[in-house]
Amino acid sequence: MSDAAPLLQVENLKKHFPIRGGVLGRVQNYVKAVDGVSFDVKQGETIGLVGESGCGKSTAGRVLLRLQEPTAGRIVFDGEDITQLSKAELRRRRRHMQIIFQDPYGSFNPRQTIHRLLDEAMGIQKILPKAQRRERIRELLSLVGLNPDHIDRYPHEFSGGQRQRIAIARALSVDPKLIICDEAVSSLDVSVQAQVINLLKRLQRELGLTYIFVAHDLGVVRHISDRIVVMYLGTVAEKGDTTTIFENPQHPYTRALLSAIPFPDPTRKRERMILSGDVPSPIDPPSGCPFHTRCPYVMDRCRTEVPPLHRLESGQEVACHLVEDGEINYDELRRAV
Ligand code: SF4
Repeated sequence: MSDAAPLLQVENLKKHFPIRGGVLGRVQNYVKAVDGVSFDVKQGETIGLVGESGCGKSTAGRVLLRLQEPTAGRIVFDGEDITQLSKAELRRRRRHMQIIFQDPYGSFNPRQTIHRLLDEAMGIQKILPKAQRRERIRELLSLVGLNPDHIDRYPHEFSGGQRQRIAIARALSVDPKLIICDEAVSSLDVSVQAQVINLLKRLQRELGLTYIFVAHDLGVVRHISDRIVVMYLGTVAEKGDTTTIFENPQHPYTRALLSAIPFPDPTRKRERMILSGDVPSPIDPPSGCPFHTRCPYVMDRCRTEVPPLHRLESGQEVACHLVEDGEINYDELRRAV
């Protein structure tokens, strides 16, 4: 996996939404939902994009597919800079980049049967002659664990977990390389979540798919991701491989997020770090380190100097002044504050 070329490269991606006001509707400010995010995704791997709600992870997912236009930055997919493509060219490429939402029901036409839903997606992308599509849709339903004889049923006749399987089948119907799962299992019961995650893992093995898994639940992300990007206020706080991030989180924000989830090894003690306050407004983000208003280890310089991403020997990259000389000794730090 580590030698594989990146399927997706994201460079300094920004998405600022204008806020208009006054009689003339002039732009008065911007919501900086994504504010300079960079990462890459290798062929066949899963990247977890995590953070609290409002951190910009879902917007980043949509901007990657250009469902929303980026304000700045570069998105290179399969060797091609898709930020420069016209709408028509982008539509042709879109079959390779699909997205599954938290509530697939919202993106299904309730008056269309499963057959019509998938047939329409395949027709737009000119996948197979029409006469062969019905059989292919039956195969896809089997592939995602649904009964192919239910091809003529309507979305409301399925459970939430089954509808998510239909959304996966629809994404697969156009032979994608990358699937963005935007909180795709968040609204499901825990047991159904596990089934859908196992399905996604199996499909990844069988079809060589690449995933970006956008989620606020780190417990879920841990089970599926090879690497994790932790976002805070539209920026990257920390990124690295999943095991390293879970065993040795370096950024204070990552530590706080992880301390809130149940730890699988009860013999190991872990600090409980409660985050005070809400995520500040992305309209007027704090100066310096975006986390400084909530960080228990804040120093004077944090209020004015933006910390760059420092690369540690472990391979983690951490945007915090405390790591500029290497890993943070949290025992020492806690004694000092
Ligand atoms: Fe906390 Fe300062 Fe590090 Fe930001 S740079 S996370 S405020 S110690």
